[in-house]
Amino acid sequence: MSTSGSSTPNHQDQEPRGTRARLAAYQAAPDTARRGMWAISYGHPAELTTACRPTVLSRVVDVPAWHQVHRGACLGCDWEGPEHRRNNDATEDAHDHAWPSWRTLPVVNPPAAAADYSKVLMGRWNAQVAQSYPAGWFEQGGPILIRRPDGYNTRHRPGGAPGGGYELVIQQPETREQAEQPPLFD
Ligand SMILES: [Zn+2]
Repeated sequence: MSTSGSSTPNHQDQEPRGTRARLAAYQAAPDTARRGMWAISYGHPAELTTACRPTVLSRVVDVPAWHQVHRGACLGCDWEGPEHRRNNDATEDAHDHAWPSWRTLPVVNPPAAAADYSKVLMGRWNAQVAQSYPAGWFEQGGPILIRRPDGYNTRHRPGGAPGGGYELVIQQPETREQAEQPPLFD
């Protein structure tokens, strides 16, 4: 379904492109003019970087009914992805740009619930995950792929990776993966 029907092409042509320019335009605009402008999506990283790093831009559209549209963007360059209705789709575009190999990463089980209260368990989980990912991956802010069963909140989570990158949720049935995954991820 197209989301461009409610926007005015002439206006869009004059819009700045890229996170840096869009944020500058947003900040320069009076409060009353900000509605409908692209800005960093709630909860997504906003600090500009030198290397390409993913973020998501969102804006409010009031016609025909209130909704938001999202697009992947980069904190390090002017790349922008196409508009999406789902925030997750924009997040994945941004990762295709900044971390092009992310789809080949191992999908790991989340830490056991008890790890929330146990530094030892959490430390063990972190060490196991770091071992299965490329060296230095998390230190550079790379994402982690977490397996979640159906019905769980499947929204990708900025800051959820061990080094502050995204937790990208991969929906997989619990049973199938356990056969593929070494027991250390249980
Ligand atoms: Zn970039």
